[in-house]
Amino acid sequence: MQEDCTFCKIIRGEKSADFLYQDESLVVFKDIRPHAPVHLLIVPRKHIRSMNDLTEQDKDIVLNMMLKAKEIAKQESIADSGYRLVFNVERGGGQYIFHLHLHLLGGW
Ligand code: AMP
Ligand code: ZN
Repeated sequence: MQEDCTFCKIIRGEKSADFLYQDESLVVFKDIRPHAPVHLLIVPRKHIRSMNDLTEQDKDIVLNMMLKAKEIAKQESIADSGYRLVFNVERGGGQYIFHLHLHLLGGW
């Protein structure tokens, strides 16, 4: 956990978010500035700064994130129409929140 991290604050319950799912490894909530009719963020509870900081130890976390994204897409009825899964990596890749997260975008 990182004191000043927005997503750690959401996970700790210090900042509000519109949650769709939570378990021991990750949380899923709505993006506050959606770029698609459905725009969700799949966020591991562990504070991992960016994809560049991922280690071998974290591979189950990332696999869980992808499996959950697939499941939630089905639940939100956007699986058949199609969706995008996006990791923005570092500033040049469009990352503004430095706590690993997977964007799930769809519903067009
Ligand atoms: P990125 O550009 O990949 O770092 O994405 C960060 C995302 O987090 C952006 O799409 C923001 O709209 C979203 N975001 C920032 N603050 C919040 C918040 N408090 N609750 C929900 N989503 C947020
Ligand atoms: Zn964090």
